[in-house]
Amino acid sequence: MAHQWRGVLREYADRLNISDATPIVTLGEGGTPLIPAPALSARTGARVWVKFEGMNPTGSFKDRGMTMAVSKAVEAGAKAVICASTGNTSASAAAYATHAGITSAVLVPEGKIAMGKLAQAIAHDAQLLQVRGNFDDCLDIARELAANYPVHLVNSVNNDRIEGQKTAAFEVVEVLEDAPDFHIVPVGNAGNYSAYFRGYSEELARGISTKLPRMFGFQAAGSAPIVLGHVVKHPDTIASAIRIGNPASWELAIAARETSDGYFGAISDDMILEAHRILSAEVGIFVEPASAISVAGLLERSAAGEIPAGATVVLTVTGHGLKDPQWALRAADGSDVTPTSVAVDTDEIADVLGLVKATA
Ligand SMILES: *Cc1c(COP(=O)(O)O)cnc(C)c1O
Repeated sequence: MAHQWRGVLREYADRLNISDATPIVTLGEGGTPLIPAPALSARTGARVWVKFEGMNPTGSFKDRGMTMAVSKAVEAGAKAVICASTGNTSASAAAYATHAGITSAVLVPEGKIAMGKLAQAIAHDAQLLQVRGNFDDCLDIARELAANYPVHLVNSVNNDRIEGQKTAAFEVVEVLEDAPDFHIVPVGNAGNYSAYFRGYSEELARGISTKLPRMFGFQAAGSAPIVLGHVVKHPDTIASAIRIGNPASWELAIAARETSDGYFGAISDDMILEAHRILSAEVGIFVEPASAISVAGLLERSAAGEIPAGATVVLTVTGHGLKDPQWALRAADGSDVTPTSVAVDTDEIADVLGLVKATA
């Protein structure tokens, strides 16, 4: 029988805090492709790879942490999990809870999560409540509920999430046979940034890799607390997955930046959408806007002369484009893209396509 990827808990059982007593709740997450991006290499002179986390079962990297968090919750006897979410955590928590036969409750900021993610959480039978507040309000309430009621918190303040997510760094090192020179990630709560740093640090300590990558994290300009050095009360960006004003893993992330000689930068929504177009139209990878900030960050740092020619750069793109597809239907000038309508007429269609008949 052909081998099937077994999910990150089984694939990396020796590097995670699980035992024979841990029930493994998996949908086959991880094992995502690391894709060379010649178009981005040509633009920057670096050797650029894209870690396409949209290929996880619910379409985002959140699944790596959720398999761990829900497995440990079930091991501890939990019958219900709760999370605050900008969308993808709720989709993932709902899917893994349902798979485990337990219930999930999710708190999302009203009107601020992408339709695809809302649909996923509802499809997977979550109790979904839209809170009239922002993500940071939702997380405060989820923490209070978990502290005082029989529900298990599966946000990335739960260390099991970070532990599961560190496996993405293991996969990168396996493919490249070393750590890259730079690793670029979108930053919201900074859990993923911190998780990659942990994964790379462990690979270095085990002698599997020879270096730590410089960890570069990017926040949306309207939602950039780490870059600004203070909480942002009313974060604002089209990149809803990183619309976070008070990152839960702020301190971990600062420590990771210091140790890795890393960097945090802010990117405008216009640049995020431009990078989104480049990634879709030149590389062939469709992501949601928050993910495209990795590409925007690479181009910005490269233009600033900060990425040496020939450096190996890995960009994590965190979530699938199908979750929030509307942005692809918006042209660079902000107008709507409307496909051309044609009659059932081969000659007309050939003409519209600019095709010239081959002569015999
Ligand atoms: C959650 C999420 C992020 C942000 O990750 P953090 O760990 O909160 O920094 C970025 N992009 C997508 C698509 C996400 O779902």
